[in-house]
Amino acid sequence: ALQAGIVGLPNVGKSTLFNAVSNSAKAQASNYRFCTIEPNVGLVNVPDERLNVLTTLVVPERIVPTQIEIVDIAGLVRGASKGEGLGNKFLANIREVDAIIHVIRCFEDENILRDEGAINPVGDKEIIDTELQLKDLDSVEKQLQKKEKQAKTDSKIKVEVEILQRCKAHLEQGKSIRSLELSKEDKAVVADLFLLTDKPVLYVANVDEPSMHTGNKFSEALKEAVKNEAAEVIIMNNSIEAQISEMEDPDDKALFMDEYKMKEPALDRLIRSAYQLLGLNTYFTAGVQEVRAWTFHNGWKAPQCAGVIHTDFEKGFIKAEVIAYNDFVKYKSEAGARDAGKLRIEGKEYLVKDGDIMHFRFNV
Ligand code: GDP
Repeated sequence: ALQAGIVGLPNVGKSTLFNAVSNSAKAQASNYRFCTIEPNVGLVNVPDERLNVLTTLVVPERIVPTQIEIVDIAGLVRGASKGEGLGNKFLANIREVDAIIHVIRCFEDENILRDEGAINPVGDKEIIDTELQLKDLDSVEKQLQKKEKQAKTDSKIKVEVEILQRCKAHLEQGKSIRSLELSKEDKAVVADLFLLTDKPVLYVANVDEPSMHTGNKFSEALKEAVKNEAAEVIIMNNSIEAQISEMEDPDDKALFMDEYKMKEPALDRLIRSAYQLLGLNTYFTAGVQEVRAWTFHNGWKAPQCAGVIHTDFEKGFIKAEVIAYNDFVKYKSEAGARDAGKLRIEGKEYLVKDGDIMHFRFNV
């Protein structure tokens, strides 16, 4: 599964959030085969209302959601890029993840220590950004040195050098690579470096309980500061999420959430957003034995999607029977959709759409 890593300064509520993640992972582990969990990795189900709808229509023996991994990357501090506080280790951990969940403290509490003085969400974000940018600058400069030598004899490498120089200038201005405009070809050159600030990001504004539905002046300031990043800001209260995740009895949980006027745990929102941030989509298989969600990447064709179930499905792919989610719901079953002419036969070039209900035909 793809991974999103939780980062942020100390005492902003990262562990509290990760506890919520890991409790949900544990709760799910008893129901599904695939949920194992390492100390700092939680494998969590991606909540999807469509699975529930399909379940009521098909009434299968088993429901299997899709999953992502959330990784706790604790310990990032000012100076990490210079090796401060095991900085290099944590930065290396960030390199391994596919997307970043950046937790920002937007609550006041004088009992909870802050190295950086008064609550300052924008400043906190900049500290972390700066560390990641400095680390990237390091990587880019090293690569530049190497490539500049080669460029003397190879004109193709000259182009790469130009791209790297643009990256360098951008980072030196205190900007992240994800905000640098690059063509598709240029992006491929940059992708080889696995730069930290190239990874997609979303922000969690960890607010206190009275602001959990509305946000507060801190989360507003954060929103304002990131509005040019096209990044999502999720307002939530991590302590309450951790409490919800600790409740085993569903009735207790519902009562508790009702008290706080919550329709669902904010964690569910966060996981769905992380899934989108990772560029992931879902298709379904819907049989009486199992209704199941499967993950595929934006832009994948039918055979590649079939390969998610089994490599043989991809190798022996013949065709796919496809029903759009809305049609399946409207006609209430595969047979209903077929009778209404809504079951399509698609071939190797078909670009699978989010929500498609798929049935693959293949040679063994
Ligand atoms: P980390 O260092 O970022 O992992 O931070 P922790 O999750 O360990 O949280 C630091 C402290 O802040 C703990 O005592 C938490 O209970 C507390 N905390 C976390 N979230 C909130 C919150 O939303 N409001 C308040 N008042 N305290 C919180």
